[in-house]
Amino acid sequence: MPEVLVLVDHDGEHVNKSTYELLAVARRLGDPGAVVVGTPGTATRLMESLARYGATSVHAAESKDAAEFLVTPAVDALELAVRDTSPAAVLVSATTDGREVAARLAARLGAGLLIDAVDLDSSGVVTQIVFGGSYTVRSQVTHGIPVITVRPGAFEPEEHPGEAVERTITLPVVDPATSARVTDRRTAPAGDRPGLTEATVVVSGGRGVGGADGFELVEQLADALGGAVGASRAAVDAGYYPHRFQVGQTGKTVSPQLYIALGISGAIQHLAGMQTSKTIVAVNKDPEAPILDLADYGVVGDLFAVAPQLTREVAARRAVG
Ligand SMILES: Cc1cc2nc3c(=O)[nH]c(=O)nc-3n(C[C@H](O)[C@H](O)[C@H](O)COP(=O)(O)OP(=O)(O)OC[C@H]3O[C@@H](n4cnc5c(N)ncnc54)[C@H](O)[C@@H]3O)c2cc1C
Repeated sequence: MPEVLVLVDHDGEHVNKSTYELLAVARRLGDPGAVVVGTPGTATRLMESLARYGATSVHAAESKDAAEFLVTPAVDALELAVRDTSPAAVLVSATTDGREVAARLAARLGAGLLIDAVDLDSSGVVTQIVFGGSYTVRSQVTHGIPVITVRPGAFEPEEHPGEAVERTITLPVVDPATSARVTDRRTAPAGDRPGLTEATVVVSGGRGVGGADGFELVEQLADALGGAVGASRAAVDAGYYPHRFQVGQTGKTVSPQLYIALGISGAIQHLAGMQTSKTIVAVNKDPEAPILDLADYGVVGDLFAVAPQLTREVAARRAVG
């Protein structure tokens, strides 16, 4: 079986869920090879988790520089691993960094790049949802090794325990003149909620929420469900909620089991970021709101009346269950 390289997203201690999703889909094409880029010792810490989710090899690309430069060490590591293994494909999460890594890698390799895959079959045919969700297309790379970015949440992680072989990639010294250096790090206040792209439930608020205070309702429903909070661009532009929570074409792409939209009209740019959610619930006072066409369950009503009832009902059922 050919290897399928997966770039590992991690925080130095833990592997992100999106990587387990990539490992699951990589098995459709070959043997998953996890590429870990980090400071010395990182791959050893992550080895057991990666092997549990199906990695048959772990390529350790470690250096002090790996944490000090943006993107370049990951591109270098993948390029070296590709030249070493001639994989069937390279899979990268479609995060902000992942997209840049994949594009640079494809340019360096002269290979075909497919972005934002929501499905991938065993012959390498990728399904993408394009033009803000207007079309579903199936595409295949016809030149070189396919480099594919995969939407977080599009696949389920699957445990597939086995042994992984560790390999070493010797990273070249990064040229500071042509790379962006990290000069400072600040931890964003995380709170107790799951990350937006990792959460199985996302509750998002739009302009209909009416203001920053109204987002308390969104947060309360999210907390009752153990979910993350998202927002439309209109809501973040109006200052109701921080920009990093924006869902959509120019925000985050999410694909949770349950997406609840409160006071969101359903503009095509918003749908582009959430329409692959497994179940969509929308609360909107306008029966003509486009989001109700997409929703599996639509409630036509005032969110200030509906959301608190929903929150109470969920909390009551959780208390019983
Ligand atoms: C290039 C580009 C990129 C963009 N990227 C994004 C993106 O990434 N994400 C994104 O979200 N948008 C994006 N947009 C903006 C997008 O076009 C819409 O303007 C935006 O999504 C609208 O946000 P909204 O649904 O919250 O607001 P609105 O369209 O104003 O809708 C508010 C909704 O709330 C309902 N409502 C009001 N009060 C209540 C109430 N009390 N109870 C229930 N319902 C109520 C209304 O009926 C209405 O349907 C982008 C636009 C462009 C041009």
